Amino acid sequence: MYKLQQTRNQVFAIWTPANEQIPLKQKAKAMARQAVQPPTKLKDQTLRAKATVLCLAKQKHQRKPIQKVGEYTRKFDTALPGKHTRLLYNGFKRTEANILVQLRTGMSRLNGYLYHINAADTDLCSCGQAKETVEHFLFRCTRWDQYRETMLQHTTTKKGSLSYFLGGKAASDPLSWKPSLAAVRATVQYAIATGRLAFDTT
Ligand SMILES: [Zn+2]
Repeated sequence: MYKLQQTRNQVFAIWTPANEQIPLKQKAKAMARQAVQPPTKLKDQTLRAKATVLCLAKQKHQRKPIQKVGEYTRKFDTALPGKHTRLLYNGFKRTEANILVQLRTGMSRLNGYLYHINAADTDLCSCGQAKETVEHFLFRCTRWDQYRETMLQHTTTKKGSLSYFLGGKAASDPLSWKPSLAAVRATVQYAIATGRLAFDTT
């Protein structure tokens, strides 16, 4: 009720005997019915109530960027966050963990993301060949070829797999799946070596 008042709705409460058909109660029922009818039939008062509901719904949706992040991560990691994510992050120092967070959430210093949040003029990689996404950065950008050797030594079958290199469970992985910590470590070392994701330039 306090929330309703905050959004400038008038709220009043009145006690009435439960089984007595009084005009006010019928009116209240009618208004309640109206509130769930299509907007064309709504009167001013119910519109306001609806606006409040929308406002609350909007507040919920303000979390959307975070949900989007979750969506990004779920593309290469179908396992629920928990044991394996703790395992992944526990072995790292703060700087390394920060790099891994950038890669696993997609919220990184790469142009693909910076452009998305209006912090860069272009989403193109400075190699000029493609959008600077996490995948482009990790697997394809020719600027960093020299640093990829250790990463590539970890697998012959999973080259270019975000799931494998970021410690995620791919949809095709068996139930017994466990992240390859060595591969994730190689990925983080690669990212550090390029200097591309450094967040502290001091
Ligand atoms: Zn590039």
